[in-house]
Amino acid sequence: MRDREQIAVLKVSLSVSKESEEILDGQSRICNWLYNHLLEHANALREEYCKTQNPEIVKVLYTKRGLRDLIPTLKKENPFLKVVYSAPLKNAALRLSASIQTYQKSRRVKLGKKSGWPSFRSWKRNWFSLLYDEPNKGYRIQGNRLILSLGMGMDRRQRHLEVFFKEIKIFKDKEIRNLRIVKQEGVFYAVFTVRVIVPELKKIEKALALDPNHKNLAYGVGTDEQAIEISSPSWLKKIDKRIDECISKRDRCKKRSQKIISSKASSYWIPSRRWAKFNRLVERLRRKRREQTKTFLFTIAQALFKRYDLVAIGDYTPDGTGETKQMRRAMNNQSLIGRFKDVLSWVSLKSGKRFYEYDEKGTTRTCHVCGYVVEGGLSPEIREWECDACTSSHIRDENAAKNGLKKVLRDLTLENLVPGSGLVLHKRWAWCARPSGVFTTLRGQCSDNVAAPRNSTKDMIVLDQNI
Ligand SMILES: [Zn+2]
Repeated sequence: MRDREQIAVLKVSLSVSKESEEILDGQSRICNWLYNHLLEHANALREEYCKTQNPEIVKVLYTKRGLRDLIPTLKKENPFLKVVYSAPLKNAALRLSASIQTYQKSRRVKLGKKSGWPSFRSWKRNWFSLLYDEPNKGYRIQGNRLILSLGMGMDRRQRHLEVFFKEIKIFKDKEIRNLRIVKQEGVFYAVFTVRVIVPELKKIEKALALDPNHKNLAYGVGTDEQAIEISSPSWLKKIDKRIDECISKRDRCKKRSQKIISSKASSYWIPSRRWAKFNRLVERLRRKRREQTKTFLFTIAQALFKRYDLVAIGDYTPDGTGETKQMRRAMNNQSLIGRFKDVLSWVSLKSGKRFYEYDEKGTTRTCHVCGYVVEGGLSPEIREWECDACTSSHIRDENAAKNGLKKVLRDLTLENLVPGSGLVLHKRWAWCARPSGVFTTLRGQCSDNVAAPRNSTKDMIVLDQNI
């Protein structure tokens, strides 16, 4: 079997001592300071350029590395910059130049999403990530230790910092391209871009098309004549409720409890102990929620790729912002679908199988039997409908998934996978996943296209436990 190479992203949590945490926070703060300082300079240059059209300004302001080239001079003027290793500093400047270039580009394009001129970053709100952009430069991995280079101390000696991985076996067979240190909800992570060896693609014998929708996570129809309704992780509601409760308790406490005057004639506030306590709790719950969501999505994806060689999903275009609670919930579902796609793509890569995103335009409103298109579409509350042209009965999401499957097979010229009888289903399953596994229920045997009675059996069968 020939292996393939792919670029992937690996995120590993780190255990960091209190002292190291303060050092990393300091490094991030300095990068943030540099970003804002360069932005202030860029703003002045921009104003000047409007007046003078001086081409020298273009070289600094509108090029990829113009701002980065200012760093050596800045280091002389502000010696504290030297305590940060060169790569993260350089990347703070490159990041700003990239945002300016994105802004410039979006102005040239008439239509499409507009990007604004970069704004000042608040370190308190967003921890500035530290990017080590070259392989093995500025960092070293020894067993479960990650050794990061810092800048020079006052003694002009290179300084180092050690943090620890909670898991090391994942680095096997992977070539690291770069490293980013991030802090989210109080936890440090090392995010590696790696080159991984993945198995060769397997032959496609069974394919499944998923229709992501508001009611479920997705509804799938496979070439094996089975349908799967995958329910949303409604069990997350419990943790969401707890998060909301903690936030409201936290917000009743004093966030600005004590004013601290720091040495540089600046001051900041520290929160009350009660506020800090609830905030830690909120962070912990959010972490837990993220972990549970991740496990949920991986559990589903693994179960799907165990059965199918190709899993395709509709491209699900978000339909703007919503003010109502229902709309917001739908938006949450959209970001969940986004993550689900990432997970599907990763799991397919690891298993030598395939993931595909199809254009789902018109899949809901078109009858898959005769191709009749319902004018004006079907409103979301219609779950089952009858085609005016051929009188076929449809389960809304199943019809959409069948159209999706047709599209996918056509796009990838896999029409041979459909049996002669067409997309006739024989079994419908309901999947409900929890971090402990996928629970499936047989919803009905069906020999024709008429909607099967729901809840035909209440027995839950546990599959794929502990994956
Ligand atoms: Zn029809």
